[in-house]
This record gives sequence, structure tokens and C-alpha cells, in this order.
Amino acid sequence: AKKEGGGKYRLFGRSVAPLMLERSLLKRGLQRALDGSEFVLHYQPKVDFHSGRIVGAEALLRWQDPERGLRGPVEFIALAEEMGLILPIGEWVLGEACRQAQRWHRAGHELHVAVNLSARQFQDPDLVAKLAQILAESRIAPCQLQLEVTESVAMERPEVGYAMMQECVAMGVGIAIDDFGTGYSSLAYLKRLPAREIKIDRAFVRDVVSDPDDRAIVGAVVALGGALGRRVTAEGVETREQFACLKEMGCDLVQGYWTGRPMPADAFEALLGTDRLF
Ligand code: C2E
Ligand code: CA
Ligand code: CA
Ligand code: CA
Repeated sequence: AKKEGGGKYRLFGRSVAPLMLERSLLKRGLQRALDGSEFVLHYQPKVDFHSGRIVGAEALLRWQDPERGLRGPVEFIALAEEMGLILPIGEWVLGEACRQAQRWHRAGHELHVAVNLSARQFQDPDLVAKLAQILAESRIAPCQLQLEVTESVAMERPEVGYAMMQECVAMGVGIAIDDFGTGYSSLAYLKRLPAREIKIDRAFVRDVVSDPDDRAIVGAVVALGGALGRRVTAEGVETREQFACLKEMGCDLVQGYWTGRPMPADAFEALLGTDRLF
């Protein structure tokens, strides 16, 4: 489409107008959400397959939209990224997750909080300085924070990604490679990455019980994690059968609806009170 003053949408025909309206409403909504603190974090347990204990909480962003109720990140993260809002939103997420980690720590619970980083955040030259400030303000140990970076984000600019991870690890902050298996990092690159955890994407977990190919892939990742000294997490575990299969295959941590859905912080804290989940 040609961008000509006024006639901008003409080439698309009439049907595009409602979409553009929707988009501009969403844009305004997002800005308001940030200014008016309409964002909240839900937390999903990461559980040790062997001890049954919660060892971590992944922070997942939610938008409490006064008009439409609770909205998930797939509805708005991409647009926030496009609008340049992802940096301030991401900083809020980091700060809030670290404050929550501090509360849990004070209540006597030992666990890490895992925060998802977008590509923009990961490539932000000020990220390390911001992290240092957030850690100082929340007074948590750096090892209680873990950053989740998808394989494709890490691979976008491999050298930048590598340097950034090195700096985080030097501060004591942990790194996890998210959605592992969906990108195309070479084994040589993976070997260099200072990540302490590899998260197997849910795409391989879904049919792991019935599909020998998926089982072979999971087996390979578990072997790789073992050889490189990385913890392997199975994501998106929904059934007892998947759980049993992945445990048997030697995954270290389990995360999914089977062991706990994402939930508000107070519900999560109640769950922390139980000794073991299974
Ligand atoms: P992700 O990092 O891969 O997070 C896991 C997603 O899978 C979450 O969706 C979670 O609710 C969902 N999930 C967990 N267990 C199960 C299961 O057993 N079955 C199924 N079907 N789904 C499960 P959610 O919360 O909608 O988040 C989607 C994505 O949005 C995340 O994928 C992450 O990439 C992104 N995201 C979430 N929070 C943030 C954030 O604070 N910042 C950034 N940049 N991205 C975020
Ligand atoms: Ca994640
Ligand atoms: Ca993931
Ligand atoms: Ca994902």
C-alpha cells in the first residue's frame, strides 16, 4: 500500500477501518495501562521433578483492562514492542517481580523469580545498569532473579546476546534459554552460552507420550543439558502421562497446568506453604 496523505487506507478497501480502530484503541489502552498501573503479574510454579518442591516462579504479565477484563500478553506484547512501550513495561515487570521475590524471601521461602525479556530489552545497552539498580532497590540476591530469553532472541545478534548474558552472569543473575528447540542455535553457540537452564518448548511436550520423534528430541535435549551442566525444564506439562514420561526421561524441572497454572501472587504464596506438590 502506498502511504499518501489522507488516502492511506484506500488500497485496502473499507474492511480495514475497524482493524485500525481496534489497534488505535489498544494503543491508547496500553499507554493508560502503564500510567494507571493496570498491569499485574501472575506466577507459575517451577517444580523439581524429584523433590516435588517449588524452586521458582515464572512471572507472566497480565493486563487488568477495566473494559475487557484480564488480558494475556499475546494480545498486546507485539504492539507494545512496536510502540516502544516494551522497555518501560519490561522495567515495571522486573521491578515488580524482584519486589515479590523479596517478600517471599522475607517470609522464609527460597525460590527464584523468572522474568521474560523481549528482544528490545535484551538489546538495551542500559539493561545491566537497570538490573543493578532494581536488584539494589529490592535487596534480593542476584541469584534469586533469572532472565528468560528465547532462543531466537538470543540468536538475533549472537555476539551482542552473548556479551549481554556474560554481563548478567557476572552479576550473579541467572539466564534460561526459553522455547528451546524452536529456533536454530547451533550446538557450538549453545555451548558458549552461559545459561544455567534450558526450557524445552511445549511443542515437543504435547505429544511426547505418543510421538517417538518428540521423545527423541526431548531425549536429545536432556542429554545435551546433562553434558553441558544445564538444568532442563519441561514446559507446558498438562497431564499425568506427560509428567511421568518427562520425569522418567530425566528432565529436572516441570512447569505446566499439571503442577500449577499461572496465578496471582497471594495464591502462589499459599501454594508455597505446602511442603511438596507431589
Ligand atoms: P512463555 O515464556 O513461553 O510462557 C509460557 C506460556 O505458556 C504462558 O502463557 C503460560 O500461561 C502458558 N502455559 C503454562 N503452562 C501451560 C500448559 O500446561 N499448557 C498450555 N497450553 N499453556 C501453558 P502466557 O502467560 O499467555 O504468556 C505467553 C508469552 O508471552 C510467554 O511465553 C512470553 O513469551 C510472553 N510474556 C509473558 N510475560 C511477559 C513479560 O513480562 N515480558 C515479555 N517480554 N514477554 C512476556
Ligand atoms: Ca518464559
Ligand atoms: Ca517458553
Ligand atoms: Ca513461548
